[in-house]
Amino acid sequence: MHELPMAALRSIFGARLQENVPLAHYTTARVGGPADAMVPVNSAEELARTAEQVWELGIPYFVIGGGSNILVSDHGVHELVILNRTRNIRIDTKSSPPSAWAESGANLGSLARQTALRGMSGLEWAASIPGTVGGAVYGNSGANGGDMAGSLILAEILHPQLGRNWWPVEQMSYQYRNSTLKLNKSKAIILSARLKLVQSTPEAVQAKIETLSERRRNTQPPGASMGSMFKNPSGDYAGRLIDSVGLKGHSIGGAEISPLHANFFVNRGTASAADIWNLIRLAREKVAEKTGVDLEMEIERIGDWENGFHA
Ligand SMILES: Cc1cc2nc3c(=O)[nH]c(=O)nc-3n(C[C@H](O)[C@H](O)[C@H](O)COP(=O)(O)OP(=O)(O)OC[C@H]3O[C@@H](n4cnc5c(N)ncnc54)[C@H](O)[C@@H]3O)c2cc1C
Repeated sequence: MHELPMAALRSIFGARLQENVPLAHYTTARVGGPADAMVPVNSAEELARTAEQVWELGIPYFVIGGGSNILVSDHGVHELVILNRTRNIRIDTKSSPPSAWAESGANLGSLARQTALRGMSGLEWAASIPGTVGGAVYGNSGANGGDMAGSLILAEILHPQLGRNWWPVEQMSYQYRNSTLKLNKSKAIILSARLKLVQSTPEAVQAKIETLSERRRNTQPPGASMGSMFKNPSGDYAGRLIDSVGLKGHSIGGAEISPLHANFFVNRGTASAADIWNLIRLAREKVAEKTGVDLEMEIERIGDWENGFHA
């Protein structure tokens, strides 16, 4: 297990450094033990500078955006957590094509709603996704027939080997909920992104967002979760498979497989990360045993999973 060089971190980051921070406050599943150390960043430049400082010292780190696609261990994270609080966005209605630029910590849903107010179409699919632009660029988030692969023009990437560059969408090698950054665990940092828009009217775009949001409200549970737990296997749905093995509504501790949508695992208020992990293992085991399908996780497990009974 890594021990962070706390004295060096205190001397670099001073009052910005937070220690022993409960990460349950920073994840949408509301679970997760403490980060030994966390540093918030408020601009793309500060994010870049922070990354370069930790690379120079060889400090292990992890970037957290909205925390909506990660399951953090109850035993916490022993890497430096860089909390992405960058927020700036700019909507360029006159550029060709029209586009939106956003720092990677901007909330994707609110970016989509702001483009709608300006009468710009293209990001309706993203309006109900709770994470950041950076998280969505990293994992090729998508919904309702749209995804980052279809919306991204360029991503501003700071790469430990390749330096700071604007990557065209092709360089991300997007696949279903995957990218070269996610696949290769490259530890590159997404600083900002430019997304494609199409001229429309505020009324038309907002009506589309409202229809999609209502569909979501009717088919997905409210409450603390990570969204879809597993990727849909080719030609099928993870939720249908979990339902078919009788696990819809099944709970372990405070975690429940939603009775509304079996690919959503909900924290009913008292769940631990271990409860959720045990439900994940049970669902994978039962689905594999009864249907032969090996479900692949869409979310990522983060932190110290070696420690304790749920290793
Ligand atoms: C209720 C609910 C509904 C959801 N619906 C959908 C949906 O419809 N479609 C969908 O695709 N997803 C959905 N999700 C999952 C999630 O919201 C998306 O995957 C989202 O894009 C993750 O972004 P985030 O900022 O929360 O990432 P985080 O969970 O904070 O991080 C995820 C990964 O991205 C990396 N990362 C984040 N920011 C950066 C950065 N700037 N640079 C480098 N790496 C970075 C992290 O290190 C981590 O590896 C849903 C989740 C919830 C809770």
